[in-house]
Amino acid sequence: MGSLWHGFADMGAVERDGSFVVARGEGAHIWDESGTRYLDATGGLWFANVGHGRREIADAVAAQLTQVAHYSNFGDLVSPVTRDLAERLSALAPVPGSKIFFTSGGSDGIDTAAKLARRYWQEMGRPEKTILVGRQKAYHGMHVGGTSLAGIPVNGEGYTGVFMPDTRTIEWDQAKALTALIEELGAERIAAFFAEPIIGAGGVYLPPEGYLTEVRQICRDNDILFVADEVVTGFGRIGGSWFASSRFGLEPDLMTTAKGLTSGYVPMGAVFIAPRIADPFFAGGVWWRHGYTYGGHAGAAAAAMANLDIFERENLLDASKNLESLLHEHFSPLAEHPRVAEVRSGLGAVAAVQLADPAEALGMVKTLRAHGVSTRAAGQGALQISPSFVITEAEVAEMAERFARALG
Ligand code: PLP
Repeated sequence: MGSLWHGFADMGAVERDGSFVVARGEGAHIWDESGTRYLDATGGLWFANVGHGRREIADAVAAQLTQVAHYSNFGDLVSPVTRDLAERLSALAPVPGSKIFFTSGGSDGIDTAAKLARRYWQEMGRPEKTILVGRQKAYHGMHVGGTSLAGIPVNGEGYTGVFMPDTRTIEWDQAKALTALIEELGAERIAAFFAEPIIGAGGVYLPPEGYLTEVRQICRDNDILFVADEVVTGFGRIGGSWFASSRFGLEPDLMTTAKGLTSGYVPMGAVFIAPRIADPFFAGGVWWRHGYTYGGHAGAAAAAMANLDIFERENLLDASKNLESLLHEHFSPLAEHPRVAEVRSGLGAVAAVQLADPAEALGMVKTLRAHGVSTRAAGQGALQISPSFVITEAEVAEMAERFARALG
C-alpha cells in the first residue's frame, strides 16, 4: 500500500492496479518508470504547451533560485523578474493597460476574480451587485469559489453549506439563458458572469458560433463584469492567439490564467484586470486585503519568462493554430467508429473523442496506454487531446492511429 492519496481518484482501484508513474518527459512524449515511451495526448493537465524537458526553463529557474527564490508580493515588495513579468504579460493582454495579480494556480485565480468582482461593485457604491453566474459543464478549479461557480454537480456533493450562496448556473451554450436570468433577477443584483471560452475539464465542448461575443455584449449592456477563465485556453491553447479573448475580441474585465503561463514547469497563475476594474483600487487610500504567499514567486516568474521566450522564438502561436486543423483532420474520422458518439475538434489545439458509452472511458484510457498513448477522461466519457504545441504532424497522425487501434 502506498502513502500517496491521488486527486480525483478511486483510491481502492489505484491500490489494486497501482499508480501510473511518469518518470521523464521530452517534447510531446513521456516515459514511465520502466522506460516505456508514450505520446502525451493531454500535455500533462493541459499545461505542457512548450513540451516537456526544456533545459532552458530549468536553467532560468536555477539561476533565479540562487539569486533569491522568493520574498513576497505583499505591500510594496517584489523581485525584479516578477516586476518584469507583469509588464510583459500586460503587453500581451487582450485589454491594453491591464494589471496583473499573481497567484499559485488557476483555482486561486478564480477565487481572486470572484472576490474582486464583489469588491469592485462595493467600491462603485453598488453593494447589491453580488450574484456570480457560471455555466453548466464549467470547471473553475477546486477552491470553494470555483466549485460554487462550476457546473459539474458531482464535484460539489457532500458539502452542504460550504459553497458561496450567491451563485447561479445557466445553460452552457445558450446566450439567451443569460438574458433570461438577468430578466429574472435584475441586472442590478448580478456582479459577474464567468465563462471558459472552451469548456475544458467538463468534457471539451466548443462554444457555438457567435456565443462568446454575444454573452460578452449582454454583460456590457447590463453592466455585469465579464470574467474569461482562460486557465486552459490562455497562452496559445486557443490556436493562433495568446488568449481566446484576443481571438474573439472579448475585452474581459477579468481574465484568469495559469497552466500555459509556465507550461507547468513551476506552479503559477495570473489574473489580468482591465483598467476599468483596477482604477478605483489604484486611486489611493483603498486596500484590497487579498494575496497569496507564493503569488509572483520569483522562481515561477523566471520559468514564465523562459517559457514566453520559447513561444516567441519558436513561433508556437503559429504552431498551435496549425495544430487546430491537424487535430481536426486526423481525429474527426474517428467519429465513424461505432464506439464513438462524436469527435469535438476544430477550435484550438484541443479535441475530444466522445465515447458512446461513458462507462468505457477509464478502461479505454488503460487500453490507450497499452497502445503507447497517455490520455484521460474528461466530462462524461470524453477522451482528452491537448498535446504540446511542438508535436509534429507525423506524431499527431500516429496518435490518431493508436486511438483507432485501441477502439478496436
Ligand atoms: N479553471 C479552469 C478552466 C481549469 O481548467 C482549471 C484546472 O484545470 C482551473 C481553473 C483550476 O486550476 P488549478 O488546478 O491550477 O488550481
